Amino acid sequence: MKLTPKDTVGLLLVVGTLSALYVHIGPEGHAAKHPSTVPDAGGSITTAVGSNTVAFVNVNVLPMDRDRARVLHNQVVIVEGDFVRSISPVEGFDLPNDVLIIKGGGTKYLVPGLTDAHVHLEEGAEQLLKLFVAKGVTTVFNLEGEQRHLDLRERIFSGEVVGPTMYTSGPFTNEPRIGTPQEAEAAVRQQALLGYDFVKIHGNISADAYRRMIDVGEEVGIPIVGHAPKNLSLSHVLGGQVSIVHAEELIYTGFPMLEESNLEVVASQIAAAGMWVTTTVSTLENNETQWGTIDGLEERLASRAASYIPQSLRDRWAAPNNYTDNYASERPQIGRMLDFLQPMLRALGDADVLMLAGTDTGKPVMVPGFALIEEIEALADAGLTSFDVLTAATSNAGRFVREFVDANASFGTVTRNARADLILLDGNPVVDLSQLETPSGVMLRGKWYDRDALDRMLAEVELSR
Ligand SMILES: [Zn+2]
Repeated sequence: MKLTPKDTVGLLLVVGTLSALYVHIGPEGHAAKHPSTVPDAGGSITTAVGSNTVAFVNVNVLPMDRDRARVLHNQVVIVEGDFVRSISPVEGFDLPNDVLIIKGGGTKYLVPGLTDAHVHLEEGAEQLLKLFVAKGVTTVFNLEGEQRHLDLRERIFSGEVVGPTMYTSGPFTNEPRIGTPQEAEAAVRQQALLGYDFVKIHGNISADAYRRMIDVGEEVGIPIVGHAPKNLSLSHVLGGQVSIVHAEELIYTGFPMLEESNLEVVASQIAAAGMWVTTTVSTLENNETQWGTIDGLEERLASRAASYIPQSLRDRWAAPNNYTDNYASERPQIGRMLDFLQPMLRALGDADVLMLAGTDTGKPVMVPGFALIEEIEALADAGLTSFDVLTAATSNAGRFVREFVDANASFGTVTRNARADLILLDGNPVVDLSQLETPSGVMLRGKWYDRDALDRMLAEVELSR
């Protein structure tokens, strides 16, 4: 059938639903796998369709495919299987039969799913994966991995487990585990062979072992990421690892005196070296709150977000933890670092350093999904434009993976043939980032979860604590 922009009432007849603003299927996924008509708790109708094609009709698309914001108004976005197949103006569009229709009414915005580029999926984290999805986080970079993460990555990919697409590092490659260049080489080769996506440095390492690690990583095609080893100089690091996974780590090697006068020079060196930086401002805020005191920890544990965390993990997060177990007298210094992060991130942005949004989720008290929304707010507070914040949380992640991990990966944009990881919002997040807090729905690799389904996911996690 041919569509016009006003063609909204008629569309409902295609799939025969009654009153829902958009048709939705259950939390388990494709209608094709669940071909029965089942009333759900939201009061609307789950509608049977015989294909796994989904049409977002009359949505405004934020493609995130250019270096500036642009919106394609009044579009039809067709998703087939796991991928976006077409994006076309609604007027005159010939809608195929037998598709699941999600209505945008000309007002909703379709944006790329988010990536949290620094998480720790600790033991028992599997049941928390839905929290990411409920907050629109459709991809995560797990930065301390072992065999069970490789297994989980597969189970997510196969659809056995509902969760964000995962890329994972192996175990940390630094002292004391890695001392000599030979040990560094062996670790990189082994992790590449086992199928890890990144090699992660988390502490000091000798200059020789570091160099060998970088060279072997390049040879076998696995990127070296991590903290900036504090025993090495910035010049070592700039010629080495592809990313710094905590922005504040740059302070130790780049700005030990917290001197703003260095910012422009160092930022341009980082840009020239092509090194990526993961922001983690919310992480440092979180750490400062708890530094040397349990008050901040208890406050964060009492938050709504933390109410989804199971007791076993809450117990592990309880004091003393890495943050509370410090001297309160050091807290002002953390505060000064935090203050310095803001001009530092602005300087990195001005120098066109490529940034990823990350959180250290999994550490106390950073809650899956919720933490990335905190990070997005913190980046906006730091003075980044909302477009740059969104770039760090969407398209840059796709670009990073394509460049260093998988040349065929395509996500983080709403473009033809991109993975169908999408968020439907009531308004334009470039104008108002808070739109991200409560999505109308999330599509995870082609599976649609409307608001009711997302709320059920949250309820399920809360009940399973
Ligand atoms: Zn971490």
